[in-house]
Amino acid sequence: MTVLVFLDPAMPDGRIADASQPQLKVTDTGITRGDGIFETMLAVNGAPRKLQAHLARLASSAEALALNVPASDAWERAIGTALQEADDDGDLVVKLVAIRGVEESVEGGTEATAWVQVSPVPKGLRGKRLAVLLLDRGYDSTAAQRAPWLLIGAKTLSYAVNMAALRYAKSQGADDVIFTSSDGKVLEGPTSTVLIARVIDGVKHLITPQLESGILAGTSQSALFAAARDAGWELGYGPLIPADLFASDGVWLISSVRLLAEVASLDGKPVTMSPDLTAELSALVESVS
Ligand code: PLP
Repeated sequence: MTVLVFLDPAMPDGRIADASQPQLKVTDTGITRGDGIFETMLAVNGAPRKLQAHLARLASSAEALALNVPASDAWERAIGTALQEADDDGDLVVKLVAIRGVEESVEGGTEATAWVQVSPVPKGLRGKRLAVLLLDRGYDSTAAQRAPWLLIGAKTLSYAVNMAALRYAKSQGADDVIFTSSDGKVLEGPTSTVLIARVIDGVKHLITPQLESGILAGTSQSALFAAARDAGWELGYGPLIPADLFASDGVWLISSVRLLAEVASLDGKPVTMSPDLTAELSALVESVS
């Protein structure tokens, strides 16, 4: 069952809406141009995980799009209403969406239309060892800094390209994708952050591509890094190239709902898998709330 709660200045705790009924105007630029932002987080036992990190990233995406979104406390109350309405102790997906509104020439809107959607975690999402394709994203690793209008570090609704990359991977018999830049750097998955481990002289290193290469700042990677540092891991931030993935002691994709997913192969070639490191990192991910 999907629960829908719209943020509404007249209703501080949000307005519950029927997810099976039409709710949006077809003239909204969120629909006609994909002009909007979103966040996806996990709720466990009725409590959202990493809530502040998600709200902070939502605010930074809104800033990148100059989008007028509700304040964090309004989101928090609407999330509370939606989770209460869902009344489910299992794992739930909590999605926050804000879209620009109707085109000014049509109806003169300026406030974002914003809502919270709560739904079950799709079955079979977790625990799979992934066959991954390395796919060129077509930008070089300095594009994000050179061309901020590309909105590369923002979590915008324009995910059609990311979904197309996943469909392409599936058409080739793979499960997921790691994007590379046109200058050969490892970037991110269409819905996840890349992690590798190296064990050097008994010291465990956890490494992720650096943010400046044009990737979304992952809240799961960030929380895991903090937990791993406390557990004695050394941390590293790229740049990474595909050869680093093949030379590693483990490659994973991490994200808020699927959590840690082990990569088994890249472009059909096996990569080293370490069940021990996967178990250790998964336990650290579980410990982060
Ligand atoms: N990178 C991209 C492009 C994403 O869409 C996501 C999540 O959907 C992530 C990374 C991982 O982010 P998080 O760990 O905050 O879920």
